[in-house]
Amino acid sequence: MNTIPHLINGERHISEHTQDVFNPATGEVCAQLAMADVNTVSQAVAAAKAAFPAWRDTPPARRARVMFRYLQLLEERADDICRLIAEEHGKTLEDARGELQRGMENVEYACGVPGLLKGEYTRNVGPDIDAWSDFQPLGVVAGITPFNFPAMVPLWMFPMAIACGNCFVLKPSEKDPSSSLLIAGLLEEAGLPKGVINVVQGGRDAVNALLEHKDVKAISFVGSTPVAEHIYAKGTANGKRVQALGGAKNHAVLLPDADLDNAVNALMGAAYGSCGERCMAISVAVCVGDAVADALTEKLSHKIKALNIGPGTERGHDMGPVISKEHLDKITGYIEDGIQAGAELAVDGRGVTVAGHENGYFIGGCLFDRVTPEMRIYREEIFGPVLCVVRVNSLEEAIALVNAHEYGNGTCLFTRDGEAARLFGDQIEVGMVGINVPLPVPVAYHSFGGWKRSLFGDLAAYGPDAVRFYTRRKTITQKWPERASHQASDFTFPSL
Ligand code: NAD
Repeated sequence: MNTIPHLINGERHISEHTQDVFNPATGEVCAQLAMADVNTVSQAVAAAKAAFPAWRDTPPARRARVMFRYLQLLEERADDICRLIAEEHGKTLEDARGELQRGMENVEYACGVPGLLKGEYTRNVGPDIDAWSDFQPLGVVAGITPFNFPAMVPLWMFPMAIACGNCFVLKPSEKDPSSSLLIAGLLEEAGLPKGVINVVQGGRDAVNALLEHKDVKAISFVGSTPVAEHIYAKGTANGKRVQALGGAKNHAVLLPDADLDNAVNALMGAAYGSCGERCMAISVAVCVGDAVADALTEKLSHKIKALNIGPGTERGHDMGPVISKEHLDKITGYIEDGIQAGAELAVDGRGVTVAGHENGYFIGGCLFDRVTPEMRIYREEIFGPVLCVVRVNSLEEAIALVNAHEYGNGTCLFTRDGEAARLFGDQIEVGMVGINVPLPVPVAYHSFGGWKRSLFGDLAAYGPDAVRFYTRRKTITQKWPERASHQASDFTFPSL
């Protein structure tokens, strides 16, 4: 059986200790994963550190040329990358292509790095004195990524980190690591010098070794909130710059004037696409008024029952399996909990079987109506194909509900009323907001980040924030006095 290796200094390495990787559509083991220990992590960090001086001094335009070639290779190998995503994650091939495309947009943005690193300059800040700010790379930086976007989330991180002159160590999710490894390897094929990108496979031991390594200067993390909080606390305590993106509970608010059929179609994709395993998935529909709630529940119910479920590797399905048996059990546990708490299960997707894939981790779409804020199915992130309908009486009540939730990743308002949309955009305490756009994932030249317990740190992922995250500002003040002038010592604080 194939063993998925680490990538260190351009070489593939296997560890003694390995772990199973599953195909969630069959429930079978499809590969073994080499699991990094402290020594493996040290080797990767040492390789990155050794590569740093030469890469830092490589002109940004040359670094950008590697990114241009990389973009081409990602396009050429797209089918292979998407097949690996669909096999190990379970999402459909079409959805995997969307993920890859959004990831590649970050490479496109990184191609513009010479312009992004231009810095700031002021002439004559004082007599004969000029000043400028430079944005210099940090050194070795690391990325720790979740299972749900094994290609896109790494592409949020390493292209820009590397384009800025850093060297990178990626620790992909242990659940679906093959596509992450393939895309990292392609960067070397594009001409990146050995050691600039490294991949260590594994789980929490590898992560903790990165958090403790003195030569790792910054960590980008994307995953669940408890782990994000741990990474942020431990990484910053160890003197590292950290951005840690966490979980979500994304609300869509529907006003009575919304175009309901459009909203229903939008919600189907946003709630059930990728089996709800997206940090921007809509998991709560907040209906203003019972009439909206009744109509929405009825229209959704028909469509949810008609979802076409099957292995992601076969084209034409709406939803594949969820990532693991444990996760399937967790989701069904939430459904049981919702019923016990008194929510109305309008559509029950449990017990779905797919012919020929009886051991796959499949579940159909589920819809709860009359969910209330104290229920666990409302408070916690389920990360499955489960949509909760909450009924409120006004837009103000809906805004207060969203704002009271601990997460603040994404949200969306469905309306035809510009005034309501403006109020919503202004008052809502969420980092990414859609108006009639159910998944308001910012494009690559903006930045991605939630509020509250969806993001620990000051700078969001990718886009302009990533340029700041992966560089440190150095401000140089320079004086070239005329030869003849000799200034006397000045004991007051310099000012104009
Ligand atoms: P996870 O937190 O279980 O794992 C994420 C990474 O952390 C993995 O690489 C994993 O190996 C590592 N890890 C797990 N437990 C650890 C521990 N105790 N100590 C150190 N490292 C540990 O998340 P997941 O299940 O892979 O991904 C799903 C979660 O990610 C969801 O909560 C989802 O909302 C979130 N997510 C957030 C965003 C965002 O941008 N905010 C994007 C994608 C996913």
